Amino acid sequence: MYALVDGNNFYVSCERVFRPSLNGRPVIVLSNNDGCAISRSNEAKALGIKMGAPWFQIQREFPDAGVVALSANFGLYGDMSNRMMSVAAGLGPFQEIYSIDESFIDVTGIPHATELAQRVRDRILRWTGIPCGIGIGQTKTLAKLANHVAKTAERKPGSYPSRFAKVANLGDLPVDEFEAVLAATDLGDIWGIGRRIGEQLRADGLKTALDVAQMEPATARRRWSVTVEKTVRELRGFPCIEFEDLPPAKKEIASTRSFGRPVTELSDLIEAVTEFASRAAEKLRKQNGKVPQVLTFVHTSPFRTQDKQYSCSITVPLRRPTADTGLIVQAAVLGMRQIFKPGLNMAKAGVHLLDIQDGGIEQQELDLDESEIDRGGLMTSMDSLNRKYGKGTITMASAGNSGLQRTWVMRQELRTPDYTTCWDSLAVARA
Ligand SMILES: [Mg+2]
Repeated sequence: MYALVDGNNFYVSCERVFRPSLNGRPVIVLSNNDGCAISRSNEAKALGIKMGAPWFQIQREFPDAGVVALSANFGLYGDMSNRMMSVAAGLGPFQEIYSIDESFIDVTGIPHATELAQRVRDRILRWTGIPCGIGIGQTKTLAKLANHVAKTAERKPGSYPSRFAKVANLGDLPVDEFEAVLAATDLGDIWGIGRRIGEQLRADGLKTALDVAQMEPATARRRWSVTVEKTVRELRGFPCIEFEDLPPAKKEIASTRSFGRPVTELSDLIEAVTEFASRAAEKLRKQNGKVPQVLTFVHTSPFRTQDKQYSCSITVPLRRPTADTGLIVQAAVLGMRQIFKPGLNMAKAGVHLLDIQDGGIEQQELDLDESEIDRGGLMTSMDSLNRKYGKGTITMASAGNSGLQRTWVMRQELRTPDYTTCWDSLAVARA
């Protein structure tokens, strides 16, 4: 039996914790460079603002609706996520963090799971300020569906029985009630059914989650895929999707960004890739990996049709797999020097660490270069200083020191302070 705990309108909810004046208003959070809506309050949803809608279009379509737009503040969301996850963990012995605002919890054998889930939901709201929905079911797909029921029953009264609002447990329902819930759920709301498969199922006359659950698994496999077959079995209560309480180590780590304005100078691009490579190296050390090669890329904006277009990437191999920021930055900067072309308006650059290996596997070779020193201790100190005193306390010199004045940083004109991760931004109750 699984529970899925999922924060409502998560980014918007994080912002509202520190600015209660945003309650009751249509609020959206914008993607990097203030491009499009990536989180919407219920009021914004009710207005008809779509997920992914560009901000300029929203302004044009809803000039008088009082829509409040905010730049994404991922530092804040990450920290609020940790808080929410640690409280949610009280629901059962095993937790799989599935995304920034969702975690599955194994609640097998836990007595009175529904009541416990209600208490945990209240506790999350009281201790972190984040409202969430909890769904419980025999499989991950059913827990997801139950979560959809919990949220929809709260947001749209009448859609499902009101007792399912906020916390819905499909695991202990009599068959007829369980089937009624599936019949009231559109097949497009099933986890794992994408738009394309959804259209094909509809073309076949299916409409609801119940229709999908009643399909023969063998038919699902023959006509669609093993994935659809698994979904059918999961809807019938047979677990096919594993519970992963340890996330698999990543084979590739990317750190890329669109610039706030066009960048033309090599020196700015070197600063940018230094920072990207440093971030990626830090993540690499967190998963105890080592990388044998580093890809660097840069390109112009395909939307600036008046500009001359250019796009190039290069892979620089390292002498031996490493997790050393200095060596990884060196490779990324070398790559950037190779692919840079002067006189162009660059719009985006990035660094990918490729073919990441487990750091425990050490490749044996003769020590040819006596001068190469082990800087593992230095890296550990650097990481702990940056953790303790804030990102960027210790950086490579080539990252530059002009901070937010750098020409390549993102446009984030509507950003709120780092309420929970920066002393200077702490809210003051009385000055
Ligand atoms: Mg959510």
